[in-house]
Amino acid sequence: MAVRDHSSQANFHELRVTHSAFELDVNFETRVIEGYVELTALAECDTPRELLLDTRSLSVHSVELLPPTGQTGQGPQPLEFRLGEPHKVLGSALRISIPAGSAPPVGGCLVISVRFTTSPASSATQWLAPAQTAGGTHPYLFTQCQAIHARSLVPCQDSPGAKMSYTAAVRVPQPLTALMSAVPDEPQPERGAHRAPYLLALAVGELSSRELGPRSRVWSEPGMVEAGAAEFADTAKYLEAGEAIAGEYVWGRYDLLLLPPSFPSLTNVVAHEIAHSWTGNLVTNASWEHFWLNEGFTVFLERKILGRLSGPAAFQFAASQGALKLAAEVERLGPTHPHTCLVPDLSGGVDPDDVFSSIP
Ligand SMILES: [Zn+2]
Repeated sequence: MAVRDHSSQANFHELRVTHSAFELDVNFETRVIEGYVELTALAECDTPRELLLDTRSLSVHSVELLPPTGQTGQGPQPLEFRLGEPHKVLGSALRISIPAGSAPPVGGCLVISVRFTTSPASSATQWLAPAQTAGGTHPYLFTQCQAIHARSLVPCQDSPGAKMSYTAAVRVPQPLTALMSAVPDEPQPERGAHRAPYLLALAVGELSSRELGPRSRVWSEPGMVEAGAAEFADTAKYLEAGEAIAGEYVWGRYDLLLLPPSFPSLTNVVAHEIAHSWTGNLVTNASWEHFWLNEGFTVFLERKILGRLSGPAAFQFAASQGALKLAAEVERLGPTHPHTCLVPDLSGGVDPDDVFSSIP
């Protein structure tokens, strides 16, 4: 049964986006991304008359209904659309009207295209000037969409309960490289590649890579890549330990990207992020109120992985440190504070980022 998500204005219970095909043009001068997306939407009820998408600080230029594949002699049909009043946390709902004759029956699909532009103030994008990079010569862009920032990158049904597959063609200036949270040149993503919109990720910079194993590679600016390969040499072992505990790794590749100024160390960061491949990315909380399902199980799996590689004492030590941290956090907030609830109330437009702590 579909769960209500207080952090999204999208109508995925009625008309669900199952696939997005993006074309993105990255402009470092204006710090915006010009985008075009073709959204495949599946009717969850009979003849839905509108598609509701989440957006925040996006400009929307045009919306069209595309003819069904194989139907020749019929061009795209412009659709009426309206951007709702912006809510400071949730953004503006993009309301797209579907003409009566085109509304699909339950189980039917339609394809709608949207032309849009991000804003330099998009909360998902971080634009670095050359001086902020290790190399100092080229600019750099990276995104962070969790919890509800994907809507400021692309129009989408920005709920963890509304998973989709995606493909993307990204245009960037020479000699920069674009990376995304996807396998390169995969023409049709497999079913396992459906992911929540918060897992959309894009990075553009002067990037090079080193192999870490048969399905892992580390990416970073050229000057950091050797040190990165040495630091993350054990990634394949973490992945194998994760598979031995939680089952097959379904995402094909596990590549790492080291962002310019920071240099995270191995152990629990990589164990934690690898663990999210199962708990979070594969099995996902339906809304941010149930974030403890993503993080609680991931921390448990992270410790199981560490325990396999370093022994039961390492597991016990990490667990007792975690218990102390939890107690300290409850003490800091006060034991009756609403943010100490396992399932916080996010109704009324509460920003999930404001509620996050080590409690979940
Ligand atoms: Zn986590």
